[in-house]
Amino acid sequence: MKLIFLGTSAGTVTVERNVSALLLDLIKERNTLWLFDCGEATQHQMLKAKLSLAKLEKIFITHLHGDHLFGLPGLLTTRSLMQNMSPLTLYGPKGIKQFIETVIDISSSWLTYKLDIVEIEHPMTLVDDQTFIVTCEALSHRVLCFGYRIVEKDKSPRLDIEKLNADGILFGPHYAKLKLGQIVQLDDGRVIDGRQYWGAVKKGRKLAILGDTVPCDASIILAKHVDVLVHEATQKHDLVQKANERGHSTTVQAAEIALKSQVKKLIITHISPRYCLENNQSIVDECRKIFVNTEIASDFSEFEIE
Ligand SMILES: [Zn+2]
Ligand SMILES: [Zn+2]
Repeated sequence: MKLIFLGTSAGTVTVERNVSALLLDLIKERNTLWLFDCGEATQHQMLKAKLSLAKLEKIFITHLHGDHLFGLPGLLTTRSLMQNMSPLTLYGPKGIKQFIETVIDISSSWLTYKLDIVEIEHPMTLVDDQTFIVTCEALSHRVLCFGYRIVEKDKSPRLDIEKLNADGILFGPHYAKLKLGQIVQLDDGRVIDGRQYWGAVKKGRKLAILGDTVPCDASIILAKHVDVLVHEATQKHDLVQKANERGHSTTVQAAEIALKSQVKKLIITHISPRYCLENNQSIVDECRKIFVNTEIASDFSEFEIE
């Protein structure tokens, strides 16, 4: 599981940063890619990062501001030029369906694959399948804006083969029952409990990917105890008033949310175009004074989630 930042600029592109898009690489977990936000030219960024549109399974849009949205029509229709594309599910605030349908209609475009659009109006569970649960909460921005919490389900325990061998329980049809934690009677008469032969449960990982927001309770609900929190930090803290008036957070405010939510790592993104990459160190230092394990994302930054 890996995060690949495709666009990290707030509001507008710069020569160094593209507008918002973040890819969650789940190739190892489910052989797919999930995309969070799709600013203009996200398909170019995917091409440069050698990420296949064919592997896209889900797209989550946080809100309908252009810097998070305007890359969608191009990306969706380019995907239609490829053969045998798998279905795609698009999640986003109410209005996203009308946006997509209008662009496709007016430009006489079409899609060759099934696109399901799930419009969100309030906090809900969006995904609950064998491997993941995704929930959302409404943040506090100038328009309806959601943050997403992605929870990987714990992996079912494996049998501790060494322990079984040590107790003289050799491989056989009863292994399947032991793996399920059932009680089994062996040929030699012994009655054993499968759970006593379980190895350690591999805990699933958790992350929160938030859209634009001022500090709010919903951010803490989404980020509580996650391994990685992705939070916007549009301005340094000397511009706190300006940031908050426009519905954004500062470095210090993002770090305070990370601290309150007891996350393991904070990654800040959505950096104002007033700063260049040379300012990265001084930006991230403001966060680290409050929350030490903070990183700042640049375009094409990758973070492995352990
Ligand atoms: Zn934005
Ligand atoms: Zn916005």
